[in-house]
Amino acid sequence: MSADVEVAIVGAGQAGLATSWYLTQAGIEHVVLEASRVAETWRTRRWDSFCLVTPNWTVTLPGGEYRGPDPDGFLGRDALVDHFQRWSDSFHAPVRENCPVSALDGDGDEFVLEVPGGKLRAKRVVVASGGYQRAHLPANASDIPTNITQLLAEDYRNPDAIPPGGVLIVGSGQTGCQIAEELHETGRRVVLACGRAPWAPRRIGGKDVVWWVIESGFWNRTVADLPSPAARLISNVLATGHGGGHDMHHRTLHAKGVELAGHFAGAEDRRVHFADDLAQTVQASDNLAGTFRKWCVALAEKRNLDLGWEMPPPLEIKGRTELDLASEGFETVIWTTGYRPDYAWVRFPVFDEMGFPIQQDGRSRVPGLYFMGVHFQRKQQSAVLHGTREDAELVARHIVENRR
Ligand SMILES: Cc1cc2nc3c(=O)[nH]c(=O)nc-3n(C[C@H](O)[C@H](O)[C@H](O)COP(=O)(O)OP(=O)(O)OC[C@H]3O[C@@H](n4cnc5c(N)ncnc54)[C@H](O)[C@@H]3O)c2cc1C
Repeated sequence: MSADVEVAIVGAGQAGLATSWYLTQAGIEHVVLEASRVAETWRTRRWDSFCLVTPNWTVTLPGGEYRGPDPDGFLGRDALVDHFQRWSDSFHAPVRENCPVSALDGDGDEFVLEVPGGKLRAKRVVVASGGYQRAHLPANASDIPTNITQLLAEDYRNPDAIPPGGVLIVGSGQTGCQIAEELHETGRRVVLACGRAPWAPRRIGGKDVVWWVIESGFWNRTVADLPSPAARLISNVLATGHGGGHDMHHRTLHAKGVELAGHFAGAEDRRVHFADDLAQTVQASDNLAGTFRKWCVALAEKRNLDLGWEMPPPLEIKGRTELDLASEGFETVIWTTGYRPDYAWVRFPVFDEMGFPIQQDGRSRVPGLYFMGVHFQRKQQSAVLHGTREDAELVARHIVENRR
């Protein structure tokens, strides 16, 4: 049986579209199968006031580079979606929208994809179904009573769309901190159950923190450079692009009046428990910040730059260990506790114990099966806008050079 298409790419986010762009340049017949619409994740899994944390100049997508008037700004959600749509249209990316792939199997040396209305056979497949796929909840999340409104971060839209009263946010990565800041600024009482996360000033030595992240090589770290494979799950460096960009981390939120607490430890009825570990968590975050700072110091020395970033003294802070949602008027819990991979529909044994694809430069051990956009695929930057280009070029080049 002959294949219907030479290459099938699954997913029309930046990872799939960048691969499509390179294959288009090389004249390789392909299709991009997209469960919903181009850039769907940015359209529907981000809140209304969402804007990039990375400056616009980091949008270095092939053929889709940011060329607007504000390279140092931070595109809002809708402008980013427009950018993606224009990019996809510009090279007539062969996207088949509303086409979820429910299973990927092999048949001889070909692949069979289950799509609405039947099966599609392809010689090669690039799985680009998202760097941040399935929201992860703490084990005891189900302790929260069902009469409390509970939202995943991707379902949060704006302060008016949740019940009045206080809000408990569980998870203090980039998303949790940004939502905490937004809700606090609209007058909500917010308790933030914290986990550790690296932080840095938004501007270091007169340059944006992301410039330092890139130029120092921090984002070039591979899984092998981390203390353990599980360290892939630690948040990116905390900062925000809101209002033109500013510092945002445990200390800034504490100073504004957001109430910090230790890790979420479970609940009985409407009484939520937190670990008595806030000071240690903030210290662990400072240690992660200190690790990043060392990369900045090395770069500053090499290029003779002024860093101007001294670590502050420890934040001596004791968090509460209990919150009575009922008596304190808290009606909403927002879970912002990270993501895990979810490739249940890919029926090949090519995943590690954490569920991440086992691959080298995007190539799995199954000939012709590739991955794109995986967190730490090649480097830490693989699943962000800035890192997409070089990974997609490598995957596309391998496909082109190994045509059969
Ligand atoms: C809250 C948040 C904020 C972020 N902010 C930034 C930022 O400021 N700067 C930055 O550089 N990065 C940021 N990122 C990281 C990254 O850029 C985004 O996660 C980005 O969406 C990843 O692109 P992707 O193409 O890998 O995946 P996605 O954009 O998720 O695209 C995957 C596509 O695959 C489709 N799909 C999934 N499964 C199937 C299937 N079985 N069949 C068909 N289609 C399927 C989905 O519908 C989706 O359209 C952020 C991530 C998160 C979670």
